[in-house]
Amino acid sequence: MAHKTTSDTDSDLSAGLYIIATPIGNIEDITLRALSVLGKVDAIACEDTRVSGKLTSYYDIPAQKVPYHDHNADEIRPRLIAMLKEGKRVALISDAGMPLISDPGYKLVSQCASENIPMTCIPGPTASLTALVLSGLPTDKFMFAGFLPPKSAARRTALSEIKAVPATLVFYETGPRLLDSLQDMQAVLGDRPAAVARELTKKFEEVRRGPLSELVARYKEEEDPRGEIVVIVGAPVAGQAEDWTEQAIDKLLLEMMEAKNMSVKDASAFVAAKSGLKKRDVYQRALILNQKNR
Ligand code: SAM
Repeated sequence: MAHKTTSDTDSDLSAGLYIIATPIGNIEDITLRALSVLGKVDAIACEDTRVSGKLTSYYDIPAQKVPYHDHNADEIRPRLIAMLKEGKRVALISDAGMPLISDPGYKLVSQCASENIPMTCIPGPTASLTALVLSGLPTDKFMFAGFLPPKSAARRTALSEIKAVPATLVFYETGPRLLDSLQDMQAVLGDRPAAVARELTKKFEEVRRGPLSELVARYKEEEDPRGEIVVIVGAPVAGQAEDWTEQAIDKLLLEMMEAKNMSVKDASAFVAAKSGLKKRDVYQRALILNQKNR
């Protein structure tokens, strides 16, 4: 059965959840429809009432704000659901951009979907797409990878898991971690074309484009950049994925196990990280090769 959606074309806004995108920097980046709906809802669920307070006072939006963030979501979600079931109109916004995109809201939306509570999304800015379209890299196929883990070992594992994805990659990053992340990207993904988009829609907006090696060299010479950052990395170059044929995998596994004396487990972990293939698949292949060579 199709889920119900809300309608706000009438002067009276219908009941339901309104997922509303808000600016990622420039306060004027908000749609007329978003302002109209925010002006009519009964409550606004937002991450930080102080941050959203700037928006609501700029646009004279009177609705009551309900804090809804990672630390209180389990407690507040039932209250929001109860309000929606009573026929209230509730807006969901985040500190910036599109709610649910590296921001709270997924569980609320998922519950509304499963309970057939009417909802709609009022689209608008998101740093991910703004950076992607400015990057100069292909936009026909892309993967949003969100934030990478803060520690290098986990970050490299996460990167190796998506290494073979044939699409432009979009990452959220912070200034203090940018250089380490770019270095790990170069080590695991290879020297692909990339872009660093910083402070989008704000006064000091900047986009740097170049191979990962060049970006690493530039950021090494400077202090950690300030502000908010998106990193865009090109897809694997044609032929790179095919280089990891069965023969190439076998050759490297044998080399690691025989010449380097690695265990089946270590050799398969090494080859999985290098090739981007699944650890379990490489491990199965390593077991077979090890058996054959006994
Ligand atoms: N929901 C937001 C969206 O739709 O883009 C993302 C929220 S996430 C918690 C915050 C991250 O988004 C930042 O660390 C940064 O990576 C990215 N970001 C947000 N605003 C940005 C901006 N103006 N310029 C560059 N990156 C931005």
